[in-house]
Amino acid sequence: KNNSPPSMPWFGMDIGGTLCKLVYFEPKYITKDEADAEVETLKNIRQYLTKNSAYGKTGHRDAHLQMDDVCIRGRRGTLHFIRFPTSEMGNFLALAKSKGMANLVTTVCATGGGAYKFEENFKKEVNLSLAKFDELDSLIRGMLYIEMTNPCECYYWTNPTDDEKCQKMPYDFSKPYPFLLVNIGSGVSILAVQGPNDYRRISGTSLGGGTFLGLCCLLTGCNTFEEAIELATSGDSTRVDKLVKDIYGGGYSRFGLPGDLVASSFYDVCSFGQMNSKDRRNTVTKEDLARATLVTITNNIGSITRMCALNEKIERVVFVGNFLRVNPISMKLLASAMDYWSKGTLKALFLEHEGYFGAVGCLLQFTG
Ligand code: ADP
Repeated sequence: KNNSPPSMPWFGMDIGGTLCKLVYFEPKYITKDEADAEVETLKNIRQYLTKNSAYGKTGHRDAHLQMDDVCIRGRRGTLHFIRFPTSEMGNFLALAKSKGMANLVTTVCATGGGAYKFEENFKKEVNLSLAKFDELDSLIRGMLYIEMTNPCECYYWTNPTDDEKCQKMPYDFSKPYPFLLVNIGSGVSILAVQGPNDYRRISGTSLGGGTFLGLCCLLTGCNTFEEAIELATSGDSTRVDKLVKDIYGGGYSRFGLPGDLVASSFYDVCSFGQMNSKDRRNTVTKEDLARATLVTITNNIGSITRMCALNEKIERVVFVGNFLRVNPISMKLLASAMDYWSKGTLKALFLEHEGYFGAVGCLLQFTG
């Protein structure tokens, strides 16, 4: 068995339903052999990736997530984190071709559904074969590696219901097992993780980040995730949702339901709700609708997660996936929902590299 690491460049790719995540390892030192052999193409690719932070119209490098001085397969270097919409795969392949990728390597490693869906395109258009890895294996492997490597990777929110006092706090995740891993991408997967190679996918829901974005675009006319989050930030979902206190005048104390709990999401924009008069309906803004959509999707995920945690008797939940990108509203909601409904026994944890673990794990599996 050949145990030597694959030749550079080292990439890990996670081709999801919405976003393609690309992790690139830039070596700090180049061996003599590599320097002799380092073809112009390799140098060009390295420079293109590391000198730019935008690629074409839709590719981005998340420079704030960059990790310097990591060690993979005995090599020191920097991890770069890049993403672009999966719908731009055609342009990505054209770019890879124009940069001469095919002259350099014959295989790139990929995970996510797109590794299957686009396999033919990689072959036909750039003459690249895909080494495919399972996305959930990759997700866990990647998150364990990054969490171990980056001392401030894992955090939680203190006082998540109080905007003034709420703060991000580092969390010591050195004894991780068991934990639930909730990946909120276009859809949602929930895994129970008992050890580094011991996990099950216990549940999931199709109501995920893709649902939020789709419904939000329909309801508000917005076009991007960033726009949707911005709208939600200044909106008020209680102008759209029916709360327990709208029905009871207060809490439903017999069963411990607080007055501010949502009793029926979006109820107030239907004809039975407060919005039955046209005037009333006109007072609801795009911002309110965006916020209500975000809250609805997030609470539903929180609720399913709680049931899973109860079932599995697991007390720590790690939330990942790009739905949480630039989205403190959802993180705080999840944090308070876990805390409130479990009377403080369930803990919601978050990770800085939220959407990139599949790509990292894929790279690690590839390099061996
Ligand atoms: P997938 O692997 O299914 O593509 P991700 O973990 O990449 O899943 O998350 C995709 C979700 O992240 C989207 O549905 C959306 O809610 C959110 N998101 C965050 N940033 C963006 C962005 N720039 N473009 C589109 N969706 C984004």
